[in-house]
Amino acid sequence: MRNRNAPDIVVAEDIVGSAMAQLADSFEVYQDAGLWQRPDDLADVVSTARALIVRNRAQVTSELLQQADQLVVVGRAGAGLDNVDVQAASNLGIVVCSAPVQNATSVAEHTLALMLSLARRIPHADCSVRQGQWLRHEHTGIQLAGKVLGVIGLGNIGQRVATYGRTLGMQVIAHDPYLSPDSEAVAQLGCTLMPLSDLLSRADVATIHVPLTDATHHLLNRQAFELMKDSALLINTSRGPVVNEADLGEALTSGVIAGAALDVRETEPPDPNSPLHMLDNVVLTPHIAAFTTAAQNAVVEAVVADVAAVLDGQAASYYANFPRPQR
Ligand code: NAD
Repeated sequence: MRNRNAPDIVVAEDIVGSAMAQLADSFEVYQDAGLWQRPDDLADVVSTARALIVRNRAQVTSELLQQADQLVVVGRAGAGLDNVDVQAASNLGIVVCSAPVQNATSVAEHTLALMLSLARRIPHADCSVRQGQWLRHEHTGIQLAGKVLGVIGLGNIGQRVATYGRTLGMQVIAHDPYLSPDSEAVAQLGCTLMPLSDLLSRADVATIHVPLTDATHHLLNRQAFELMKDSALLINTSRGPVVNEADLGEALTSGVIAGAALDVRETEPPDPNSPLHMLDNVVLTPHIAAFTTAAQNAVVEAVVADVAAVLDGQAASYYANFPRPQR
């Protein structure tokens, strides 16, 4: 076992759970929940570690990885690898593992909660009752049965949301350039794949479940909103920068679309004075879609198991590049 100055595993964010405690029984673990905010300190402590575990705030850059001569595995506690330079890790022979499916159900459920909250004005109605009001017609909502749900990105989360939409009696359409219209998933879900522009013009509710990449950055912008119905609702539980927030604010203010619900923001935490915070047709949550006890336990267990496996010379199960280190 190594000494405290040279931990086996560095945990750079707030990641807790019984699996983390078990990890500390077998390895020297250094955890600092605020380390992600201090890139120089992070680089310093990672320079002698064999494993790094992060959530989505620590930026695991090529520069950081190049300074970490002993590093063999990066564990990302969650889905989405936009904060990890997977290519740089691969070039250095470092395994990148994550928890790609473990929180998908919770995120899909939160997406459903946001859609229903927006359609039925639940936060606004709750707030008005607490203020002593008993307004009913003012909170007339939208019935979702019979409406068209447009799923943008039909992966682990998008497929679950599509299923929930069908259960509500919605007609589900989808856009995913990496899925074949003949695929089993599409047939089983009973949805129709189409170009994004067609989806946007047909959807009553459009919900985003794509990874953040160069191709999806600001995928939903002014031009996209102008294709949508003026009664349409937009939900984003993927990554904030997939939506151009300034364009969204204008679209919501000028009536180009009717409402939006966002769990993720372009900057997190967002500016408290964001114009979106002043709008009545917006529902906001602080990136909590994956924050259920079940999902967090499953995510941490999966990442801990893979990091421990790699450090013990075994193969990782949920790897993004290769199951064993190449260095
Ligand atoms: P996934 O990889 O299973 O699915 C993503 C889908 O998007 C894939 O089917 C892919 O083909 C598709 N896609 C890629 N580029 C596209 C494009 N330009 N247009 C349309 N589709 C495109 O991922 P997932 O598990 O479903 O998660 C989706 C995203 O949700 C993650 O990348 C992550 O950023 C985000 N997420 C957010 C939270 C949260 O707490 N809010 C939690 C987990 C995941």
